[in-house]
Amino acid sequence: MEAGIFSRTIMQRRTKIVATLGPSSTDEQTLEKMVAAGMDVVRMNFSHGTARDHIERAERVRKIADKQGRSIGIMADLQGPKIRIGKFEQGKVSLERGDDFILDAECELGNQSQVGLDYKDLPRDVISGDVLLLDDGRIVLDVLSIDGLKIHCRVKHGGVLSNNKGINRLGGGLSAPALTSKDMEDIVTAATLKADYLAVSFPRTGDDIRLARDLLRKAGGHGLLIAKIERAEAIPALEEILEASDGIMVARGDLGVEVGDAAVPALQKRMIKLAREKNKLTITATQMMESMIENPIPTRAEVSDVANAVIDGTDGVMLSAETAAGKYPVETIEAMGRICIEAEKPVEASLERWFLNREFTRIDQSIAMATIFTAFHLKVKAIASLTESGSTPLWMSRINSGVPIYALTNIEETRRKMTLYRGVYPVLGEFTGYDRDKLLEKVEDVLLENKVIEIGDIIALTIGEPIGQPGGTNTMKIVKVGDNRK
Ligand code: PGA
Ligand code: MN
Repeated sequence: MEAGIFSRTIMQRRTKIVATLGPSSTDEQTLEKMVAAGMDVVRMNFSHGTARDHIERAERVRKIADKQGRSIGIMADLQGPKIRIGKFEQGKVSLERGDDFILDAECELGNQSQVGLDYKDLPRDVISGDVLLLDDGRIVLDVLSIDGLKIHCRVKHGGVLSNNKGINRLGGGLSAPALTSKDMEDIVTAATLKADYLAVSFPRTGDDIRLARDLLRKAGGHGLLIAKIERAEAIPALEEILEASDGIMVARGDLGVEVGDAAVPALQKRMIKLAREKNKLTITATQMMESMIENPIPTRAEVSDVANAVIDGTDGVMLSAETAAGKYPVETIEAMGRICIEAEKPVEASLERWFLNREFTRIDQSIAMATIFTAFHLKVKAIASLTESGSTPLWMSRINSGVPIYALTNIEETRRKMTLYRGVYPVLGEFTGYDRDKLLEKVEDVLLENKVIEIGDIIALTIGEPIGQPGGTNTMKIVKVGDNRK
């Protein structure tokens, strides 16, 4: 389907919206509205649900996207080695400051004085003096001593503690490997549902990402690898993790617990900047519109948070419980969309200084850089990029030019993996088998039909010549729309 791809409000927005699916976003009508509201990528949270649930949801989303002529990417997000407490006899307990409490790897059912652990090696990883944060830091325990498989703690911040809540250590450093056996099975599911992105939870090094990539490719998956930066150790390893990945998620939930919440905003800025310089993607995640789980409008602080991530240059802003379990999944996407559009306005007017000094040796990348520079200064209406791998649009999208990039491809997988690229609008169509003039006409036709350009507009094109032969982009062309038909 080629016509009507770009609804006006979605077209105004460059930043992409990633929405987690869950009980609030499973039925067809809600999903239809979420797609229409501008969701670009769906996140399947593999911490919940069965393989079947995920596969069915993916099919449903793709069917709806097709019906509406939209490209929607699918991100499979692995559970990873989130360390959790076990269950309680009564489902929960209430802890008070000063209480003694034991984390016991052997305990079956917890009570007021102890609870079990799903990661049996935790007692070996901690020492007295450590601070453990439970339930995203709502409950804080000081470690007093270790005795075999028992961690004796004293409650520093009390509260209600319920079944299976997560545990982090302040400062990080827990030894659980990034990929669990469940994750390895889930990677096969991700390949089966043809996930466009695979998010790896709690990676410590580039090796964790390389292993996940190998497993995904062996299972036949094509997805891009997204490293969730959510462990304290991942921060010093950031460059190396970025090298091994296609993108990162600023996973503020766990990260904030491990490094302290106040350190997160500066890290977010640094991570996004570094990722863009290295031609990698970024997603800013967790609690972006948290209050909209219950309310139809966001708080001013949430509006500012989303806007700031946009100004930082993130590719995607992510919704978690807001769309998975909240009362207003559609309204949340709409609100996020309008915040992004507004926040993009002031930043669109300049090329950043680092752009001028960036180094590259590839021909296709040279064309990408030349095109974005020209497009910005010549103030072209649009860039049209004919692409097979998606690399040229990716390189161009790392630069804040304000010019929309229409990425035209005949490969469905390429179309879908570009859904996260900031400022890139993927278009699927038949763009091979034409000579040069016909191809130019065809490109103009698609953009004219979608009303994103008009006759007489100047547009920039990137093409690989000779036309019709697969190969790298080596040509930039500036055309006045309609001129080649005279
Ligand atoms: P999660 O990851 O939602 O899977 O925990 C994101 C985060 O930690 O922020
Ligand atoms: Mn997390």
